[in-house]
Amino acid sequence: MSGWQRILDAKQAENLAEFLELLRIPSISSLPAHTTAVQAAAEWVAARLARAGLERVEILPTGGHPVVYGEWLHAPGKPTVLIYGHFDTQPVDPLELWTHPPFTPVVEGDRIYARGASDDKGSMFATILAVEALLQAEGALPLNVKFLLEGQEEIGSPQLPAFMAAQRARFACDLAVSADGGQWAEDQPELTLGTRGLCALQVDVTGSAADLHSGIYGGTVQNPIHALVAILAELHDEQGRITVPGFYDQVHVLSEAEKAAIAAVPFDAEAYVRRLGVPELFGEAGYSTLERAWVRPTLEVNGIWGGFTDAGMKTVLPAQAHAKITCRLVPHQEPGRIAQLVAAHVMRLAPPGVKVEVTIMQNAALPYVVEANHPGNVAAYAVLEELYGKPPYLTRSGGSVPLYNLFREHLGVSTVTFGFGLPDENIHSPNEFWRVSSFRRACVAYAMLLHELAKLDVKTL
Ligand SMILES: [Zn+2]
Repeated sequence: MSGWQRILDAKQAENLAEFLELLRIPSISSLPAHTTAVQAAAEWVAARLARAGLERVEILPTGGHPVVYGEWLHAPGKPTVLIYGHFDTQPVDPLELWTHPPFTPVVEGDRIYARGASDDKGSMFATILAVEALLQAEGALPLNVKFLLEGQEEIGSPQLPAFMAAQRARFACDLAVSADGGQWAEDQPELTLGTRGLCALQVDVTGSAADLHSGIYGGTVQNPIHALVAILAELHDEQGRITVPGFYDQVHVLSEAEKAAIAAVPFDAEAYVRRLGVPELFGEAGYSTLERAWVRPTLEVNGIWGGFTDAGMKTVLPAQAHAKITCRLVPHQEPGRIAQLVAAHVMRLAPPGVKVEVTIMQNAALPYVVEANHPGNVAAYAVLEELYGKPPYLTRSGGSVPLYNLFREHLGVSTVTFGFGLPDENIHSPNEFWRVSSFRRACVAYAMLLHELAKLDVKTL
């Protein structure tokens, strides 16, 4: 057994006790009343980094919730890896559904119940413990390490674009590794290769200056709700394909290997249908459900409103109708271009008799992917295979993580996702928990990963 492993084993109880300390800090980033708690979590993390042997540890202001930095740069010629994680949490409401108070952590069997335990204080803390164990056992790290641990992930990291642009030199590295992620199951690893991008629009349809009497005026003017739903109905064909001209032009065509990797992930359609409570599945023709969720773009109407919706009836001809639309995007679609294409198509579909306006919202994210054969992913794959005794599934996340694109844009590096949450751990929900077994595994996995990454030639990254 390696020295670092002995240290992690010997310190299990101590590390768990410390983890509970971190979980007691109610670092909810979205609530202004918790700003000092997010700061307190930053101070806790900074102190812990320093005690682990990291140097130049600092709490960096961002204009919002802070970023904690630390480094160990005494491995000349070896890669420099940026370790990312977050110590802020989601809010806890509805509080009455929690069986334990969310910031009073409780260990029950293999489960550690607390808000933030799985997302992402657990995997984040494991990275620090792994580095500490390596430093204590070996007197040095096998490569150079920088930490970027943030307190605003759960609100979309609003200050980080400007922060990263201003801090390029400090965070210069060869590869980023994100501890914000998960595994497929307790006995099945996964390697997440990418996330989808996003663009958002609002459509506003206006007819008359005010709501009209539908008896006196009905049949003589265009109804804005009719106009809106006619437009929206034209955005997909019966096969589930998006009809916006040019929408699919830049979409990356999956290679046979990419298709095979997704097909290798088991998918239980019946369980999926049951879990969602839908009568049956529907989606773009020619693609599997996992392909639709991971590697195909979507256009979804998120909300629609206008006219009279209270109980009873009102013979009104509404003056306005509105809809919100978001698109999930895949490589190599550009959010700004796609939003323009959708807006132009909506305008083309506008019927006579109403005024149609489209507003492109600021919230946008680029799609993100790192190839499975990127040396960082190859290293992570090898570690996961050794730890679990079986190869990881190659997966995608259908969601959007803007930060990985910031690392690519400002630091020119790819991000390997290497986290140890599990899908049943109620993240963002009541009774969030993490597993004691995942905690141990995450520490070991990070120590192994740093050794594996140390073997890489900087020039290949
Ligand atoms: Zn997270």
